[in-house]
Amino acid sequence: MTDYDTVSADVEHEEEIPEDHPRYQDLLTRHRIENGVEKGITHLQGMHAEGRGSAFDYLLGEETIPSADEAERAAAAHLLLAERPVLSINGNVAALVPGEMVELADAVGAGLEVNLFNRTPERIEAIADHLREHGAEDVKGLEADARIPNLDHQRAKVDADGIHAADVVVVPLEDGDRAEALEAMGKTEIVIDLNPLSRSPQVAEVPIVDNIIRAVPNVTAHARDLAGAKEAELRTIVESFDREAALETAERRIRDGEL
Ligand code: ATP
Repeated sequence: MTDYDTVSADVEHEEEIPEDHPRYQDLLTRHRIENGVEKGITHLQGMHAEGRGSAFDYLLGEETIPSADEAERAAAAHLLLAERPVLSINGNVAALVPGEMVELADAVGAGLEVNLFNRTPERIEAIADHLREHGAEDVKGLEADARIPNLDHQRAKVDADGIHAADVVVVPLEDGDRAEALEAMGKTEIVIDLNPLSRSPQVAEVPIVDNIIRAVPNVTAHARDLAGAKEAELRTIVESFDREAALETAERRIRDGEL
C-alpha cells in the first residue's frame, strides 16, 4: 500500500508521484508548474492561476464533464474547418502540456505561437526551446511584428502571420482583456478555462471548462476521430454546439455538484 502522507508536492521527478494517488493529477500539475518556474518558462503569477484552476477542478470532480467533452468535439471541428488555426502558448500551458499542444497542432494543421502576459525575450526563447524539445518545428511569437488593437503595448504583441492572421485561435488560460480584444478582432476563440465565470470563457465561441491536462488530449482525440469527416458533418457539429448551455452546465456542476 502506498503511504500517501510521504508523497510531498515537491518531488524531484514527476515519475515519483504515484499514479494511484487520489490527488494524482493535482500533484502532477503543481509539480509541472513548479518546474516551469524553475526553468524560467512560467512566471511566478502562473502559480496563482494554477491554484485558482485547481480549486475549480476540485469542485468539478476533477473529470471531464459531458458538456466539456461536447465543447472539445466542437473545438476539434472548428480547428479542422479553419483556414489558419493557431494555438496560443503561455507559461502555464508550456509547463503543463507542451507535447500535447504539439500533437494537437499536428493533428489539425495549426500553428503554435508563444503569447505571454508577462513578456520578456528570455521567457519567450525558453518557451520556444521547450516546445522544440517536445517536437515543435515552427514556433511563432518571436517576431511580434503585429498588434492586437485596443490593448496596451506589451500584451498587444503578436506575429503578423500567426495570431494576427488566424481565423480560429485556441487560447487556454487566457487573460480576460486579451480574450475580449481577440474576439473584437472577429477571431473564433476556443478558450480552455476551469472557471466558467471568468471573462475569457464568457467571450469564447467555444468555452471548454476542463483542466487543460485533460482537455488538450481529448480535443486531439476528437480531431483524429473526425479527420475523415465531410465538411457538412463538421459544420453540423459546430452549429449544434450551445455555448451558453456549456457555461451554465459547468457553473451548475461547480455550485451544486456532489463531492
Ligand atoms: P479573467 O482575467 O479572465 O477575468 P482571472 O484573472 O481569474 O480571469 P487569470 O489569472 O488571468 O484569470 O487566468 C487563470 C485562469 O486559468 C483562471 O480562470 C483559472 O481557473 C484557469 N486555470 C488555471 N489552471 C488551469 C488548468 N490547469 N486548466 C484550465 N484552466 C486553468
